[in-house]
Amino acid sequence: MINVTKVAEIDAETLAKNLHQTRQQLAEFSEESAYKQSVNLIAVSKKHPPQAVVAAADAGQREFAENYVQEGIDKIHAVDNPDLIWHFIGPLQSNKTKDVAAHFDWVQSVEREKIARRLNDQRPQQLEPLNILLQVNIDDDDNKSGLTPEQVPTLAAFVAGCDRLSLRGLMTILKADTSTEQQRQSFAKMRTLFEQLQSQYGENIDTLSMGMSGDMRQAVLEGANMVRIGTAIFGQRE
Ligand SMILES: *Cc1c(COP(=O)(O)O)cnc(C)c1O
Repeated sequence: MINVTKVAEIDAETLAKNLHQTRQQLAEFSEESAYKQSVNLIAVSKKHPPQAVVAAADAGQREFAENYVQEGIDKIHAVDNPDLIWHFIGPLQSNKTKDVAAHFDWVQSVEREKIARRLNDQRPQQLEPLNILLQVNIDDDDNKSGLTPEQVPTLAAFVAGCDRLSLRGLMTILKADTSTEQQRQSFAKMRTLFEQLQSQYGENIDTLSMGMSGDMRQAVLEGANMVRIGTAIFGQRE
């Protein structure tokens, strides 16, 4: 039988150890890379209970990411910690943009003008502009959403012109089951795209979000400065 409660039972001590270890690895990879960049660790808490977020926050983790709108909002409310920063990283339908604009600090999965326009219109006035990353399907994965590299400039120009959005950079998720060499090549292409965007829009473009538990080394070696890590911190999901 599958032990479905395993995840909820991860203890605070293990979680703190996982976080510490992940941060240490990121520092090593960054040291190993040509960029020597500081890497912002985002803890992906999808399918893990609010208590796991509380335990991670107690261990010093500040930024969290969720894939599903309702699950994310429920968790944000349950955790109820104004010091935390929340990233939305999942597919976003237009009927959910209002909820996302009201509850999250970042949206990393923007790939359509319609979604960007709605987030801009719906971002509550009392909140800071919503931070936006454009999602790029860098290795042309049929299963994955995201812009082609050629589509980036047009959507970037649109988002940059929205006063309730702040364009911060790019995000990608690689195809599963490719070689480390292929991963490095795809991440390197992302880095080039990111630098092109930076040369056009300047220092506001400061975030290249790539790398998950399985490929974070390759991502950091190729210049990621934000990684989204779930499994290596919280353990397996279901
Ligand atoms: C689930 C998810 C992650 C984290 O994946 P792990 O392999 O558990 O580290 C990162 N980014 C996105 C977009 C995800 O959906």
